[in-house]
Amino acid sequence: MSVTSTPLTPELTDYLRSSFSTEDDFLRDLNSQAAVSGIPDIHIASEQTACLQLLLRSINARTVVEVGSLAGYSTIVLARALPPDGIVVACEKDPRHAAFIREKAAEAGLGSVIDVLQGAALDTLPSHALLTQSEPSIDVVFIDADKPNYQNYYDLLVPHVRVGGFVIGDNALAWGQVHMADPENEPKNVRALRAFNDRMSSDPRFLTTLIPLGDGMVVGLKVSA
Ligand code: SAM
Repeated sequence: MSVTSTPLTPELTDYLRSSFSTEDDFLRDLNSQAAVSGIPDIHIASEQTACLQLLLRSINARTVVEVGSLAGYSTIVLARALPPDGIVVACEKDPRHAAFIREKAAEAGLGSVIDVLQGAALDTLPSHALLTQSEPSIDVVFIDADKPNYQNYYDLLVPHVRVGGFVIGDNALAWGQVHMADPENEPKNVRALRAFNDRMSSDPRFLTTLIPLGDGMVVGLKVSA
């Protein structure tokens, strides 16, 4: 028995990618075409795909809100883990990205599952049907947009997440700097991510952990209202 964690070397990451990813040719092509269209290569890592889908399927998720969808890579990963009457509300500020996602969602046969909300999420989300119902009706929130607003998305969305649902924040390791008192790169974003992790892990409504796949995901299961 050991109390020492095994660090994820590049070789172990390759192993995870080859054995525990649901990335397929469609998603690989999506990334290539996004690059050609000038969309930055900042999507989740392929080793996060199966983990996200496992989380959604473990609670029979039907309703997902994603904040920050880029070219739709993670959106399609999430949508594929839902039943045919499920919905992913994909919040994306950039109109070029939003148009690209709509095109790819249709190509993937997921046009009726993926609802792209173009605009700043704090402006577009409050009037969405999922946030105007009297009972909490969101199964999963996946946050992967502007880091200083993570806590604002949390405040807006958590009251609408059902007990038994998940809140997931990407980049929880802050590009490997989350533990640093004086981060060298993007210190404002690193501090925002650290504050978000602290907020989630100290919220008594959630049972929270950090899954160190990709750049890390902080994952909270809502255990009480
Ligand atoms: N989740 C995506 C994936 O893995 O495929 C990657 C998302 S990328 C890291 C962040 C995205 O958030 C960008 O496309 C950016 O335009 C979007 N974004 C930034 N600020 C936003 C805001 N206020 N509202 C909605 N989207 C925003």
